[in-house]
Amino acid sequence: MSDLVTVDGARGEGGGQVLRTSLTLSLSTGQPLRIVRIRARRRRPGLMRQHLTAVRAAAAISRAQLEGAALGATELTFEPGQVQPGEYAFDVGSAGSACLVLQTILLPLLTAGGRSRLRLEGGTHNPLAPPFDFIDKAYLPPLRRMGARVEAVLERPGFFPAGGGRIAVRIEPTARLEPIELVEAGPILGCTARAVVANLPRHIAERELSLVREQLGWPAAACRIETASALGAGNMLALEIAREALTEVVCAFGRRGVPAERVAAEAVAEVRRYLDANAPVGPHLADQLLLPLALAGGGAFRTCEWTDHARTNAEVIRRFLPFDLRRESAEKSVLVRLSA
Ligand code: AMP
Repeated sequence: MSDLVTVDGARGEGGGQVLRTSLTLSLSTGQPLRIVRIRARRRRPGLMRQHLTAVRAAAAISRAQLEGAALGATELTFEPGQVQPGEYAFDVGSAGSACLVLQTILLPLLTAGGRSRLRLEGGTHNPLAPPFDFIDKAYLPPLRRMGARVEAVLERPGFFPAGGGRIAVRIEPTARLEPIELVEAGPILGCTARAVVANLPRHIAERELSLVREQLGWPAAACRIETASALGAGNMLALEIAREALTEVVCAFGRRGVPAERVAAEAVAEVRRYLDANAPVGPHLADQLLLPLALAGGGAFRTCEWTDHARTNAEVIRRFLPFDLRRESAEKSVLVRLSA
């Protein structure tokens, strides 16, 4: 049996990503995992429903031996067997992010040697997590360029706090992931703003888009309102910037008591930071790309910011997989290069 890897869940960001990355790499490398102080730096530490579902999903696809996994638990031991492709369904049972559950098990399933079909239920459009639109348009396309054969369909959106969203994922087998380079920003091919409302008045979306047009100068033809059918109320503004290398998706969510103009201003500010850096990879994709690149044995990207999530993720990955990471800072961006 491989050596047990012990991870301190309080390191760096000290959030759910330390747990999820550890699970993914335990699955991909076969190394058993002991994790302590899970999510110690979060307001409510320990396993919330979303994290527990990710742990159970990781266990289910690998027939793992699991000790200590319960709501609120701050320690657990996870000993994976071989990853088994197949048909799986996982339900977070709250508005917790189903997209983060997907990210936990996706990479090991891609190269598990067979076809898989997944159905994930829970939140699909959560703040502080990759929304489905980001997974679909920003995260999966680079994975496909690395050789992944995967399609995700949003069957129903799930917003906080009602949840009830559903995602279907189809995976065809791939032998291995290959390194990629996402270094040149290249010209912008198009910008799209989508304001989505579910069980909320249309004027919320109209006000968001009017701020986008006014502040970013995006034409009316690039802005659209979508009415979604969901269990509860929800509003998201998604701003998409398509380049040849990839598409960046910036999302902001409506919350009770926050005017639509403020929600839109948050997204606009993030888009300005992204465009100003002239780097293809946004700050969220940057931390999420480290894992597939490390598994592929290398690659490079230019991003606007080296965040705490990215730094922490790199540290956690290194506990399982040795790799060399070099960072070269330019005036407004940073070039990140990984090699085995
Ligand atoms: P954690 O806070 O440790 O649970 O990790 C959250 C993960 O969600 C990180 O990979 C973040 O980059 C990602 N994330 C948070 N907000 C967004 C967003 N708006 N778009 C894409 N990814 C996000």
